[in-house]
Amino acid sequence: MSQDRKYCTSCGAQIAAKAIICPKCGVPVKNLTLTYLSQKNRIIAAILSLIFGIFGIQWFYLGRNKYGILSVIFFWTLIPFIISCLFGVKLLLMSDEDFNLLYC
Ligand SMILES: [Zn+2]
Repeated sequence: MSQDRKYCTSCGAQIAAKAIICPKCGVPVKNLTLTYLSQKNRIIAAILSLIFGIFGIQWFYLGRNKYGILSVIFFWTLIPFIISCLFGVKLLLMSDEDFNLLYC
């Protein structure tokens, strides 16, 4: 096995060391998978916030479980809904750098 090859952790195929996804089985390669999964997506968070914000789904997604639970408890006040709408818009306007800094 030369320096620029590695084995896929899923199917065992020999793939390029720099490959992010195994071309044979389509499974993301291990080390990079962890970084990929831990990275939250700003647009997904914004959509969750705008659509399911009344139940605070975006807070659970962003790992802010305390806010999520508060949203579930107080959803009937419509306050979490208003906050989530504003938060969703804020997420859409914010840069990916700022988002990563705050939530990743
Ligand atoms: Zn594979």
